[in-house]
Amino acid sequence: MITLRDYLRLLPKAELHCHFVSTLEPARLIALADQYGVALPTTDPDELFDYDDLADFLVAFRAATDVLRSPADLAQTAYDGVRAAVAAGNLLYREYGVNPQYFAQRGIGYTELLDPIRDGLRAAERDLGVGYRIVIAINRRESARAAVELVERMLEHPYPDVVALGQDDLTPKGTEDPGRFAEAYALAKRHGLKTTAHAGETETASAEDVRVALDVLGVDRIDHGYRVLDDPGLVARVREERVPFATTPVSTNVLSGWPLDPDHRIARMIRAGLNVSVSTDDGVFFRTDLGREYAEALHDFGIDAEGAKAIALAGIDGAFCDEDEKARLRADFTAGFLALDAALAP
Ligand SMILES: [Zn+2]
Repeated sequence: MITLRDYLRLLPKAELHCHFVSTLEPARLIALADQYGVALPTTDPDELFDYDDLADFLVAFRAATDVLRSPADLAQTAYDGVRAAVAAGNLLYREYGVNPQYFAQRGIGYTELLDPIRDGLRAAERDLGVGYRIVIAINRRESARAAVELVERMLEHPYPDVVALGQDDLTPKGTEDPGRFAEAYALAKRHGLKTTAHAGETETASAEDVRVALDVLGVDRIDHGYRVLDDPGLVARVREERVPFATTPVSTNVLSGWPLDPDHRIARMIRAGLNVSVSTDDGVFFRTDLGREYAEALHDFGIDAEGAKAIALAGIDGAFCDEDEKARLRADFTAGFLALDAALAP
């Protein structure tokens, strides 16, 4: 017999909102910083991963990006990140946000970045059976023109597993302003790419940012989206349209101080019948993993076994892989659910 917490940790999972750099393990981050002479604010992991808010976190995030330099670093980080997630939370499929503009600033070009990451993820898929896709993220600190150029790079160098455009970080003003990148999204959609956007996450954001992502950018999925609850009409619409929300519970506790309890915005989104999946966002920086997101956060939201299975399946519904892969994942998940249901203590 297993407890509900064990059940939640062992449940098969698909993760849709995971920044590649944040799959770096703390020990490797500190070792690489030492090797390349990158100054970290501290080498004590407890202090290194302690932030006041999103802007404070992003300073640490940008510093960490600086330690991933060689193709071997990138490939090994990709591979080890999958292995760790399988052990921590029974990961079966994951989508990675990769932000080439951070790396371009340090002279690492688009294909120089993508080739080794893909090598590592393909090796992990072969050895561990974990499927994946890549979402190229616009860095909101950069201009709308630079975002269009980024999509042009994607179209010049098509990869079968690089399937979508997203956006992360914040504008230089500290806002989300997703509509600023309308031209880049239109270009991506014209060429058949899927789209998502971080929207409705931060203190300065609103339900309107979610609406702009849906109506101006035409996204297929929303990352975060918590402010949607402030507009009941929009809640009704996204429920009706089954818009996928890739939410990240622990990150909201770290960055916004929201307690992980049944009144949390994500818990309310789930109770409102929205199409919600759960991810880590920036695992290393928030000291979380996919097992913890389920066994601690969903548990503390008051989600039971049936609710958790629906959330795990929402990770397949909202994924950007093809229908054959989704069908295989649903079969694997269903088999895993049966075994766990039989083991769950009544
Ligand atoms: Zn994110």
